[in-house]
Amino acid sequence: MTEAKGTEWFDAMAGYLPKFATVEEERLHRKQRLAAAFRIFGKFGFDEGVAGHITARDPELLDHFWVNPLAVSFHHIRVSDLILVNDRGEVVEGNSYVNTAAFVIHGQVHAARPDVIAAAHAHSVHGKSWSTLRRQLDPLTQDACAFFEDHAVFDDYTGVVLDLEEGKRIAHALGNHKAVILSNHGLLTVGHSVDEGAWWFCTMERSCQAQLLAEAAGTPVLIDPENARLTAGQVGTHLSGFFSFQPLYERIVREQPDLLD
Ligand SMILES: [Zn+2]
Repeated sequence: MTEAKGTEWFDAMAGYLPKFATVEEERLHRKQRLAAAFRIFGKFGFDEGVAGHITARDPELLDHFWVNPLAVSFHHIRVSDLILVNDRGEVVEGNSYVNTAAFVIHGQVHAARPDVIAAAHAHSVHGKSWSTLRRQLDPLTQDACAFFEDHAVFDDYTGVVLDLEEGKRIAHALGNHKAVILSNHGLLTVGHSVDEGAWWFCTMERSCQAQLLAEAAGTPVLIDPENARLTAGQVGTHLSGFFSFQPLYERIVREQPDLLD
């Protein structure tokens, strides 16, 4: 989805978009946003043992991505801890292992979607609970409308994802959407920036929580398709996703400045 350019809202948000003079500057920016996203995921309790990964495509080596090292807590990740992985799953920068599932899933998503800069996946409680229902999220709230007609369900659980063919099938299920619900597993979101991909994950997890709460309490009333589509065009765009992440970034850097080390 694309904003109507020239509107006050678009101009205000677009003012936040970073510009880079060199590829090195852009790489550092992506890595800083990535380390911050891990700290936010840690703060929000999205970690579960060694599960979960967020990847950022390298701005120069387009088939390589930056990712968290295996078995390092989201709470501790710094820019200098991030590892660079190539299209064969080999670590080409950094002294750690890559989670095989991170390479198998994210490598295939990045390969299938050249527009995607970042992909986020974790076993957060409400996302994985919702995933067992094998249903799409409904447009119950303004925030949930970001996913209206823009997410899919991968309804085929066959164990931990270690096979490249399964990574391909997940990327196929994602299609051109911003998110896919991996049944009996968790959520996967993507974005045109690290900021956007991480934001969709945070707000999708909460939308799962909201729908679980609403359905436990009664029979929620859906937003009608016309208004859900209108709202999606307001809160579900690439720029909205980027913009919505900014308060989280500012907050986590202020609280945990060592993430930039
Ligand atoms: Zn997983």
